[in-house]
Amino acid sequence: MPFKALQLSEPVLRGVLSAGYKDPTPIQLRAIPAVLTGGDLIASAQTGTGKTAAFALPILTRLGKHAARPRVLVLEPTRELAAQVETAFRDFARHTDLRTVAVFGGVGYGHQRNELHRGVDIIVATPGRLMDYVKDGSINLKDITILVLDEVDRMLDMGFLPVVKDIIARCPRERQTLFFSATVPPEIAAVASFALRNPAKVEIGAARSVNTSITHALYPVAGIQKFELLAALLAKIDYDSVLVFSRTKHGADKIARKLFQANHSVAVLHANRSQNQRIEALAGFKSGKYEVMVATDIAARGIDVAGVSHVINYDVPENPEDYVHRIGRTGRAQAVGDAFTLVTPENADDIRDIQRFIGQKIPELRLEGFDYMPIVAGPPKPKQGQRGGNRSSGGQHPSHGGGHGGGGGGKVGYQFRGRR
Ligand code: AMP
Repeated sequence: MPFKALQLSEPVLRGVLSAGYKDPTPIQLRAIPAVLTGGDLIASAQTGTGKTAAFALPILTRLGKHAARPRVLVLEPTRELAAQVETAFRDFARHTDLRTVAVFGGVGYGHQRNELHRGVDIIVATPGRLMDYVKDGSINLKDITILVLDEVDRMLDMGFLPVVKDIIARCPRERQTLFFSATVPPEIAAVASFALRNPAKVEIGAARSVNTSITHALYPVAGIQKFELLAALLAKIDYDSVLVFSRTKHGADKIARKLFQANHSVAVLHANRSQNQRIEALAGFKSGKYEVMVATDIAARGIDVAGVSHVINYDVPENPEDYVHRIGRTGRAQAVGDAFTLVTPENADDIRDIQRFIGQKIPELRLEGFDYMPIVAGPPKPKQGQRGGNRSSGGQHPSHGGGHGGGGGGKVGYQFRGRR
């Protein structure tokens, strides 16, 4: 079914077509009619399925014309997501007179406050900064008719649920609420039952499923050879843009510094970087100025960078869910992407858990010149047992930074350069 058949308003239909979309994705096919009815919706869909348009297009259709008071509030867990989702709204709304603003922390208040005073229809916000404006009277939630809670599972992980509940309670009772979460554990189901009334339900694929257009592989390696293997993979693969994941912020800095020294153009994204640095890193990665971006999970969750050709898990993710989210950065909306995971013998149990979680065995590959390290998981452990870590195998660096150390320590004064 084409977009034309979905009862979107004419300017919104033109907006989505000028954004270059041809056919709706499965979640768009199912969620758009549901949102257009005005009823509540709970949707679980993995990232990269096109869920932003699934709510933005019917919302813009329902709003119709500019009214200079906030009627739609979209809550996002991270600044990057708030910026990205607001851009999508603005893009789809380009043939309407509707106005949008992104509201998030880490930047000055002046510009956002000016936009708010000019009168907006749609606010896309992170919870903390939104509450600052609610408290100082710059935002009044009394006219909110549509509330979107996006990536609710991540909001839970980040400790936002109390603020989110407070925000929900400040919105009018008569409203439409749309709820998006990759997984719906009990704490989240409780928020849903507090926020939603008789919701329609849309589930696209199992939340844990891996996008089928992604090919993925494990590269077993000794801890001491990790950085060398990363460098060798980068030399071998034909990539446009590579997202490298580290478990820790310090690890991300260290990997980036070494890649920079090895002449790669590299950006870093993690929560200890200033908002301006984060914006610059992401913009530079999107524009192709940086060919590699090293990121931690929280910073990278949900961000959409068209054309990420490869994801490399320098460190195995801590939670199986994060594996799905990380590799969801590539192969988005039907593109083909590759995802590689470097695995040291200490990670064997984590890999077993990931394979169970996604219901697939991930093939093992080897690069010439690297010792073969068998991945042998131990017997399944009770949940509270120590997973993987601290087996103290000769004082190896636990999970980041690779082998050589290079005396880099905590130095942070390095610079990144653009594409060669
Ligand atoms: P999302 O899951 O909303 O973050 O979307 C993932 C990516 O898919 C984004 O780059 C969107 O621009 C793209 N996308 C979403 N819907 C479509 C569509 N119907 N056709 C083509 N690309 C799409």
